[in-house]
Amino acid sequence: MADKQFNEDSADAISHLAGEFNKLPGIGPKSAQRIAFFLMRSSEEQGRQLAEAILSLKEKVKLCSICFNVTETDPCRICASVQRDNSRICIVEQPQDIIAIEHTGIYTGLYHVLHGAISPTEGIGTDSIRIKEVISRLTDSDVQEVILATNTNLEGEQTAMYLGKLIQPLGISVTRLARGLPFGTELEYADDVTLSRAFEGRQTF
Ligand SMILES: [Zn+2]
Repeated sequence: MADKQFNEDSADAISHLAGEFNKLPGIGPKSAQRIAFFLMRSSEEQGRQLAEAILSLKEKVKLCSICFNVTETDPCRICASVQRDNSRICIVEQPQDIIAIEHTGIYTGLYHVLHGAISPTEGIGTDSIRIKEVISRLTDSDVQEVILATNTNLEGEQTAMYLGKLIQPLGISVTRLARGLPFGTELEYADDVTLSRAFEGRQTF
């Protein structure tokens, strides 16, 4: 009886954890269950490290008050750096896009993270993403070029179009990444060469 109780309790814990993993992007119910069983068999130390990594992520990581990139310091290391070219701001949808662009090493300017793209079908309007923050950042600034690096899908294009119309009247040159990126590309998955070419070949919007 005690054994049965134990089994039921542990099975509950496994399905609870599997349920949590299943909420994560790209993890279906099968994978979620596999990870939960893997963790059950792994050492207590391994489980603790994972739990602590998640907690420390939630405790330490915040958004930069200037560019809205994820950071442990405010401003983030890119905004705080004196080596970055502060006459350029590259606007991206997600923090992961910055990682992809930084990986190419081709860009030395600053960033602005929108945290999404305009999508009327999903109810994401212009106020749901960090658009007014970038406009106030650009107003009366020394910025000479804004690079629109939103994704090349419908939402990304709509967002770029909207931003272009708002930014051009400020007297700032607006460019869009070149068409080397196939339609439908999410920036974070673009390879270094394609992304570098798209940057070099960026065109006036
Ligand atoms: Zn920043």
